[in-house]
Amino acid sequence: RRAAFAALKGVAPETKDGHRVTVMVNAGLRDDVAALDLTGADGIGLFRTEFQFLVSATMPARERQQRLYRDVLDAAGDRPVVFRTVDIGGDKALPYLDHDEAGEEENPAMGWRALRLALEREGLMKAQARALIEAGAGRTLSVMFPMVSEPWEFDQARAIFEAQRGWLADRGKKLPTQIRYGAMLEVPALAEVLDLLLPKLNFLSIGTNDLTQFLFAADRAHPKLAVRYDWLSPAILRFLARVSGQARAANVPVAVCGEMGGRPLEALALIGLGIDRLSITPAAVGPIKAMVRSLDRAAVMVQMADWLARPPADMRATLSDWAAAQGV
Ligand code: PEP
Ligand code: MG
Repeated sequence: RRAAFAALKGVAPETKDGHRVTVMVNAGLRDDVAALDLTGADGIGLFRTEFQFLVSATMPARERQQRLYRDVLDAAGDRPVVFRTVDIGGDKALPYLDHDEAGEEENPAMGWRALRLALEREGLMKAQARALIEAGAGRTLSVMFPMVSEPWEFDQARAIFEAQRGWLADRGKKLPTQIRYGAMLEVPALAEVLDLLLPKLNFLSIGTNDLTQFLFAADRAHPKLAVRYDWLSPAILRFLARVSGQARAANVPVAVCGEMGGRPLEALALIGLGIDRLSITPAAVGPIKAMVRSLDRAAVMVQMADWLARPPADMRATLSDWAAAQGV
């Protein structure tokens, strides 16, 4: 099977009925970019910039950040890369960053982390913005913000980037040809005000790892809970159908970048919901391509609409039986 997946490297992930699915990889280190050539993925849909911060004993200087981002863009060539601004704080505390003002956190996953922290540590955010903009000189730069809960947070983050762009422009620096701004949907509350945010977005990326733990109020790392809550539960699928449909109606491209998209049955369900952009762990690219190539997209979309309206008692078993019967 491994050899079969490797053979799919140069083959496009296209469904049997001719729909092209975009399969990208998640990355966080310079060397991860090699996964693009190894798997034939379409790009990097999530570059977790906090890795550089987490492996460093001191705050990575702006120049060092810029070098990493430029290396990643160079290695990716004409394949797109989406940089996520730092998702630090919470359980990803850094020794060199003063977390004391957050105090001892009882629930770090829903604590002072990601954009919440970055917007208050404006120096950190400004340095990262400038590093990214300088690294993206002469090409398209795609940036997304983690844990956006309300539209004003996106506005503020974008304004920090735009101020840096203006500052560099005033000094005659070469700029990105365009900056595309996206938000991650990981906090369920954002779904309720998504209509207010969509007109401002160039793209939306759904982080199903955090999203599902918040949707179910169930710690994503808790072994007792992992078996109870299924990504194929009607609650999650209905939620994803609603927000992705809303994004598409507003002409905003929508991707899933959580682990869910790397599992064939889950990815099949996502395609059935109309989500055709996935960013996944590199090892999953082969299996997902194989699944996509054996799938009739129109058929799964009809089925999913039906199952969402009248959920079967066991969605996973039902989907699995259907896939087997279809030869997926
Ligand atoms: C997610 O929450 O789904 C996600 C992609 O971000 P992370 O796993 O880095 O929290
Ligand atoms: Mg997350």
